[in-house]
Amino acid sequence: MSEDANYKSELVGVFGHPVAENPTIVMIEAAFRDLNLNLNWRYLNIEVLPEDLQTAVVGLRSMQFKGINLTIPHKVNVLPFLDRLAPDAKLMGAVNTVRREGDLLIGENTDGKGFLRSLRDDAGLDPSGKRVVFLGAGGAARAMAIELALSGAESILIINRSAERGESLNRLIKENTSCESEYLPWVSGVSFPSDTDVLVNATSIGLFPNVTEKADINYDCISRDMVVCDVIPNPPKTPFLAVANARGARTLDGLGMLVYQGAIAFRMWTGQEPSVEVMKEALESVFQ
Ligand code: NDP
Repeated sequence: MSEDANYKSELVGVFGHPVAENPTIVMIEAAFRDLNLNLNWRYLNIEVLPEDLQTAVVGLRSMQFKGINLTIPHKVNVLPFLDRLAPDAKLMGAVNTVRREGDLLIGENTDGKGFLRSLRDDAGLDPSGKRVVFLGAGGAARAMAIELALSGAESILIINRSAERGESLNRLIKENTSCESEYLPWVSGVSFPSDTDVLVNATSIGLFPNVTEKADINYDCISRDMVVCDVIPNPPKTPFLAVANARGARTLDGLGMLVYQGAIAFRMWTGQEPSVEVMKEALESVFQ
């Protein structure tokens, strides 16, 4: 063994249930290889049952993991086991990324930040002063809407099927940010204002294998002045975006958001900036 050899493993990964089909490992490990970090750094898909989450976090501390992603069903339940929360993650009440600061475990949420970076870098759009419409009010919508509101969006209209989740996101925005907010019940063929700047599908409609499904809205409301976004990363070309495209709107797919939220977590863990092109290519190679 040479004197300067260092074979210590630096561990990150994801806690979830199930995790077998979670593809984040593919894009993160591709970025490790690209930056020559692959001798030491490892991303692990770790199956953790809901009742074992607390002990899993204790294990994370004792094995000195550099960080972890959280996916279903742990994004909310992990909160009491962490030392500190980033202000946006605290507002959302959900954590998708944990990073270490010394001995402390800090809860972050990179989903909404990934969406913002995709809006800024790929669509060239500054959210400040913009009018935004969200279809959906689940975990992804909460993260994206809060980041937009904190970034100075003028107004957010939430269209959601269940009134409870729609009203809850509406209240969260109203009570914690200076952004105007409103909830509209989702009826079949629902319309939205023609002066909307950004329309976001933040529902699971169109996710593989239901690739032909499309949100039940009035598509005549979409104009060429709008940026239309979808959270669905697989497949990224959804019927929702296809209609928006045909109506002349600029479109943003969910693959970009997925790559950027991973790239932000990667930088939090390693301190290095990964290539989003390398990460995207790796994901595209495994998606249907
Ligand atoms: P949740 O289960 O928390 O929320 C799902 C949302 O979709 C709810 O608002 C639900 O409405 C709505 N919905 C589902 N089916 C329908 C339907 N047929 N008609 C109307 N509304 C519907 O899921 P998440 O928010 O965590 O995830 C949503 C999607 O976002 C998933 O497909 C996920 O893969 C994707 N995602 C993508 C990310 C990325 O980086 N690209 C990151 C995170 C998530 P209701 O409240 O009425 O049930």
